[in-house]
Amino acid sequence: MNWREYFHKVIVPELRLLGLIVFACLLISSTGVPFTWLIAISLLAFTAFHVYQMKLLLAWLMDKQLVAPPDDLRGIWYEIALETHRRNKITRANDAKLRQLIAQFRKVSTALPDGILILDELNRIEWLNKRAAKLLGLRRDQDRGSNIINLVRDPSFVKFYNDKIEGESLRLDSPASNQIKLDLRLIPYNNNNNKHLLIVQDFSALHRMEQMRQDFVANVSHELRTPLSVIVGYIETLDDDDSPELEAYHSIFWQMKQQSDRMTQLVEDLLILSNLENDQHINRQNNVVVPKMLDGIVDDAIILSGSKNHDIILEADENLWLKGNTREIHAVFSNLMSNAVHYTPELGRIVIRWYQTADHIIMEVEDNGTGIDHQHIDRLTERFYRADEGRSRSAGGTGLGLAIVKHALQRHDAQLSISSELLVGSTFRCLFPIERGIDASSIDTTEDPILTP
Ligand code: ADP
Repeated sequence: MNWREYFHKVIVPELRLLGLIVFACLLISSTGVPFTWLIAISLLAFTAFHVYQMKLLLAWLMDKQLVAPPDDLRGIWYEIALETHRRNKITRANDAKLRQLIAQFRKVSTALPDGILILDELNRIEWLNKRAAKLLGLRRDQDRGSNIINLVRDPSFVKFYNDKIEGESLRLDSPASNQIKLDLRLIPYNNNNNKHLLIVQDFSALHRMEQMRQDFVANVSHELRTPLSVIVGYIETLDDDDSPELEAYHSIFWQMKQQSDRMTQLVEDLLILSNLENDQHINRQNNVVVPKMLDGIVDDAIILSGSKNHDIILEADENLWLKGNTREIHAVFSNLMSNAVHYTPELGRIVIRWYQTADHIIMEVEDNGTGIDHQHIDRLTERFYRADEGRSRSAGGTGLGLAIVKHALQRHDAQLSISSELLVGSTFRCLFPIERGIDASSIDTTEDPILTP
């Protein structure tokens, strides 16, 4: 209510009443009654009227129903009651809408195929739908208010929950049954990012399909190995045969040998990849003597480079070793190195570095070769993805090398970073966590034969 309205609705009627009282007092005082007495009595009555109005307003406010304001309210008291009533009506309408919305949300959450938990800033479950309770083996009523970490005790979940890395998801066997495979995601939902939604998805069907695909690839690759080695053996025998009747066929044998070597390499790479996918529990805490390993890889690279005569330089910290799996680390480094040789023209320069920074332990391969167009970089680690199909095939590439690198690095909590410029060159960097480093200068390698390269 603005001042104008307030003046007309409240002040004017009050002034009119006061004027009427003064006028009546003046009239009555002409009969001889003292004017001051009359004014005093009138003001008392005026005050009593307002006290009565206050009582009426209070009684009305205390009525839970809060129906329309009573007719006996007057002046400012009526206006107060009217405004309160109007606001109350709006609040009730909003409440009804909210209740409807909550009822609807409950129905939707029950129909959802995913589990949803609302977690407060102290990691307690504020609310969870039926599906979440089923997938995580929780009790909907009893477990509400409990700390989620006390209920889902799997160490990988505890780490995932404490780290709260945005966009990351966790795959976990359901605590209710290890036949159910779960995919968990944590999403902050308030401004301070301290309240979270935990989304739980059952991906058992997808897991089964993934498993079938992995088994299929592993079996096919394994089954192809023997027939392939027989074919390669016969081709080699025929190629080595100097008899005149076979002379015309040697170029054909050479092509057959080339293609069967490619197939053998493809099968080997597929087997390495499926081993990486399946061997979740192999030991990745061995002492890998990286400087020595890199010496060997550089020797192989020089042979591979052959007539291309690359300038291959190794800069390795001799006292830096790595905790990992020797076979897998070798696969990573040799794949990166052979790519550098394949994609760098003759007389090009390849530098392989092994060093430590404040944040990471790094193995990098830098070349001044063909480089890679920006648009391809994000997809290079996909299976069979090639930036330059023709060049890769002619270089004898299987298209699986960087997929192997990525998987093996993931198994070592490491990442692959690629920077490249077309026609300038590329740098492939493996970033290992500092915790995987071993300071070899503090190890007496003469006493421990296992540590000796
Ligand atoms: P491939 O067997 O084809 O080399 P990879 O998975 O090892 O398969 O590499 C994928 C693609 O990445 C290659 O086909 C090539 O286009 C590109 N690539 C990899 N390393 C380099 C490099 N050092 N320089 C230029 N391109 C590269």
